[in-house]
Amino acid sequence: MTTKELDRAYVAPTYARFPVELVRGQGSLVWDENGKEYIDLGTGIAVNTFGLADESWAAAVTAQLHALQHASNLYYTAPGAQLAAALCERTGMKKVFFGNSGAEANECAIKVARKWAQEAKGPEFYRIITLKNSFHGRTITTLAATGQDVFHEKFTPLTPGFLYADPADPAGLRALAAENKCAAILFEAVQGEGGVLPLPADFVEEMKAVAAEFDLLLMADEVQVGNGRSGALFGYMNLGLRPDVVTTAKGLGGGLPIGACLLGARVEHVLGPGDHGSTFGANPAVCAGALNVLGRLTDDVLAGVRERSDRIVKALSGAPGVKAVTGMGLMLGVETEKPAADVVAACRENGVLVLTAKTKVRLLPALNIPLDLLDRAVSVLRDACAN
Ligand SMILES: *Cc1c(COP(=O)(O)O)cnc(C)c1O
Repeated sequence: MTTKELDRAYVAPTYARFPVELVRGQGSLVWDENGKEYIDLGTGIAVNTFGLADESWAAAVTAQLHALQHASNLYYTAPGAQLAAALCERTGMKKVFFGNSGAEANECAIKVARKWAQEAKGPEFYRIITLKNSFHGRTITTLAATGQDVFHEKFTPLTPGFLYADPADPAGLRALAAENKCAAILFEAVQGEGGVLPLPADFVEEMKAVAAEFDLLLMADEVQVGNGRSGALFGYMNLGLRPDVVTTAKGLGGGLPIGACLLGARVEHVLGPGDHGSTFGANPAVCAGALNVLGRLTDDVLAGVRERSDRIVKALSGAPGVKAVTGMGLMLGVETEKPAADVVAACRENGVLVLTAKTKVRLLPALNIPLDLLDRAVSVLRDACAN
């Protein structure tokens, strides 16, 4: 049987896959089962930060694999400790809990908010305000945190205690905080799955004020926009915010599963022995790769992200069939006149892999995509958008 036949026969059909089997990659190029070459503007959904089969990252991971691939959290291991130190040094956060995915990073944040509030404010202050149109993960609790009914319907009852603020209505956020006993606000600096939508500036200001006034934790979900993709190390850094909790995942591992929940000074002592755990969390090989990724997110690379972003935005803004370009850094959404799915298919036919987010075409290229490849890919996308 072919891979596609095996997959259709035996893999739970939770994904509507593109009709392509990817077999090999190199940087921002990837090849399918027929040897067809594509320029990759999707990076496995913001995961392959420095592209495919990146040599420096792969060397860091394999060196660790040959030394010690896993130890469990019953023992000390260097890569996780060093990664936590590097994350704290770069953000001013104080402690890190490691899991294996974005959903787990957010689960940790939610547990921290609940325990913090219980101790600091009282057990009735368990509610967490999230945003309409947000996306925070697929577990029952992170689905509850996700402010989109479509994700809730089939899986009720979900974890109680989530309230949803509309990013277009700062006054509504204030009313929610005033009328309910809350612990925290959880937000994405740029809503990814929700359509690549940056948080409006007036909402950001109100969030700051409301958090201070009602003693709420600010918790940034940086799973998609974090790790250099916004042009800053983390997306919230572009907004003048100082969150108490930062969750991240996708791009931190550079291609291997990791989740991290960063705890700031107000909550650094909230978790104690036995409060949380993960068998694979801080896996040494994964953390060795993440250390490599984080170490390479230098000012130069971040400037390169902003340069590439400007290049894409300039080439697409006002192009035939393009209604708007939204987003930040190398996390961009293109509102097209044609249905996004048609544009994605046309790009694929012509050797460019892009994604969708709601009604938009979503671009998440590698942070170091060579400019010539980027220009070629964007010109294919322009053609695909034109009517
Ligand atoms: C992808 C994503 C998640 C979920 O991450 P998983 O690793 O799939 O669990 C959570 N939050 C945001 C903002 C995401 O983009």
